[in-house]
Amino acid sequence: MSNEPAGVRDASSSSPATIDALRPEAASTLNHSNGHQSNGDASAGSPPTDDVVSAATPATEATSAAAATEQSESAAAATENTGTSVTDRVASGAVGAFVPPATPSGFASVGGLPSLPPPPYEPWAISDAKSLYMVDRWGAGYFDVREDGKLTVAPLQSRGRRVALLDVVEAAIRDEGLKAPLIIRFQDMLHHRVRVLNEAFNKAIADNKFRGNYRGVFPIKVNQLREVVDEILEAGRQFHYGIEVGSKPEVFAGLAMHTDNESLIVCNGYKDDAFIRTALLGRRLGKRVILIAEKLSEVRAICRISKEMGVEPEIGVRVRLVTRGAGTWAESGGENAKFGLSTTEILEAAEILKEANLSHAFKLIHFHVGSQVPDILIIKRAVREAARYYAKLRRRGHPIEYIDVGGGLAVDYDGSRSTFDGSMNYSVEEYARDIVWNLADVCDEERVPHPNIISESGRAIVAHHAVLVVEAFGSIEKTPAIDARVIPPGEHKLLRALTDIEESLGRGELIESWHDLLQCKEESEKMFEMGLLDLDVKAAVEVRYWQLAERMSAMASQLDKSEVPDDLLDLDRQLTDQHICNFSVFQSLLDHWALGALFPIMPIHRLDERPTQNSTIVDITCDSDGKISKFIDLKNDMRETLQLHTIDKGPYYLGIFLTGAYQDIMGDLHNLFGRVNEVHVFLDEDEECGYYLEETIAGNTIGDVLRMTQYDERELNSRLKAQVDVAIKQDKMKPTEGVRLLNEYERGLKDQTYLSF
Ligand code: PLP
Repeated sequence: MSNEPAGVRDASSSSPATIDALRPEAASTLNHSNGHQSNGDASAGSPPTDDVVSAATPATEATSAAAATEQSESAAAATENTGTSVTDRVASGAVGAFVPPATPSGFASVGGLPSLPPPPYEPWAISDAKSLYMVDRWGAGYFDVREDGKLTVAPLQSRGRRVALLDVVEAAIRDEGLKAPLIIRFQDMLHHRVRVLNEAFNKAIADNKFRGNYRGVFPIKVNQLREVVDEILEAGRQFHYGIEVGSKPEVFAGLAMHTDNESLIVCNGYKDDAFIRTALLGRRLGKRVILIAEKLSEVRAICRISKEMGVEPEIGVRVRLVTRGAGTWAESGGENAKFGLSTTEILEAAEILKEANLSHAFKLIHFHVGSQVPDILIIKRAVREAARYYAKLRRRGHPIEYIDVGGGLAVDYDGSRSTFDGSMNYSVEEYARDIVWNLADVCDEERVPHPNIISESGRAIVAHHAVLVVEAFGSIEKTPAIDARVIPPGEHKLLRALTDIEESLGRGELIESWHDLLQCKEESEKMFEMGLLDLDVKAAVEVRYWQLAERMSAMASQLDKSEVPDDLLDLDRQLTDQHICNFSVFQSLLDHWALGALFPIMPIHRLDERPTQNSTIVDITCDSDGKISKFIDLKNDMRETLQLHTIDKGPYYLGIFLTGAYQDIMGDLHNLFGRVNEVHVFLDEDEECGYYLEETIAGNTIGDVLRMTQYDERELNSRLKAQVDVAIKQDKMKPTEGVRLLNEYERGLKDQTYLSF
């Protein structure tokens, strides 16, 4: 079809000037492109060549012997019914061969065109859902899928009950009046994580006959929520597990929350006099508070203030190691790091302490190479480097008792067990073993005592315990169900051309059909611009375009990529649907927006049902960045779509997992969407369901977030009242209506910030 107006004028003619006419004489067919000649006639529909067969995706796990039989039966039935199901089944990878489809002539007609067949109905097993969403990989024994299609959570892994997440959501709605978006915290999981970490170190210490002990601390910046910190301290009491604070507000919180004087309070971050005084107040109370100097000026300030207060300080220094972390937070370590002292500065710090008669207060060497260190080799290297500092300082007579290995213990967000940013190639046990062994090795070599070990793991303690549940309340589909009222029957050249394309596609002529489809679309756009196309025909063309594109994309995905034009491969991305979810990425998933961090996301129910939409997730902020279009993947770094269900069967909930670290506290108020509702779940065998909702925390109201941005609720009410008064005076509304509207406004300020359906 030409781009010239002549072609456009043709549009009004009823002659079948189809796109076929513009095909190259000797059309190369799909088989041709695989090196097999075809003359483009009926033989193009002949059975597949070996090449094509091998290009098809092999059957998945689910298509095991029994399933395969079932599939072939249902395929046969579907073929009988629809005439094209075999192609669609090939497209979805369930059948390992390319079989050209029959022409879909027998379907219900929409807009005068035969409509496409329904999606294929293939067997779908729970194991398919588990492997699609990789639950067994990132779930770490905490998350699983039940036979009824519900996602389950086992906060104590195999030692305790499994709870269906959907049941918790429904209980929160029913009993507590809370709606999604909802953070669900499994408090028992915090206990479990604390135990896993402490036991790993204690075992490594025992196995290596290490002579120091382990005194872990939880860095409260990773999740400062009081209930979380409380739970962790409670769980850690038996291990004398302490806390780390990194700012003035945190030291105020930490001091009051900490009650076990055998556990430590480690103070990092830049410090002013008030910070140091507050920490030393802890020393007065008999707590083991260790002030870690980030700068030499802090060493001097600690000496001065402790003298003034008459308090014996305990001091550490953060060493700026040469070893750098890897991944997103690598900048926290290395020679250009923002924090820490160089070798000369450490020696100078020791001199300052000596001059202040506080040499005996030099208790600790600290390093932190960055959060989420994916590669254990980096940890080993950093530990050995820090151990040398410790050993050399000990040999110079400094009475250092602790090595603090900082944070960095990673979480396997994508379950790949690799050195990818969002993963880790080691376990908690290996981490502990490597730290203990390398410390022992260096210390023995240098003939110095084994130190006590502190680690500041945050992410690994809290990431798993929180799930953000969001509700998908709408979807933007490229190939929606067609409403016959919107697309009335019509005889139009473009529609006939589309029918021809469908027929040629039915003969397996994929690439030519694709080019013809593009041409047809272009033609329709031009005709519309020139006023030659009515809206109903335009609508019909659009719908048919996306339907055919979807089929072509499915067929293309089964072929060798080198044989398929780029634009056809790219169709997959264009065909993506969008699930609109009631939440804000900026409030609840900041690391995804800011740093591209990936979190496991999956439906929490209907997992016994095949998800049929290739989708991305969009939030309700009016910002195009408010979306999730990158998802975890095992084979590639990430995937761009997530397979989800249609939302036509009642509320559809998605879980965003491993969000307990950093996300809660860093969220911002973009579009004034505030904190979300929270519910805290505790396991309890006395309860019939095996758990109870201990506490709920209501999310921010509209009034709350307006207050945070300097609006005064009363003033807003009175300003609106003044405007209503004017409207009443001007007879634009009756006084009763004015009062009603004002009441509604006032009540609305007490509502939560998210949409309410
Ligand atoms: N300690 C310090 C000094 C940190 O800066 C951080 C975070 O970056 C942590 C501990 C916690 O790290 P992670 O969450 O990786 O365990």
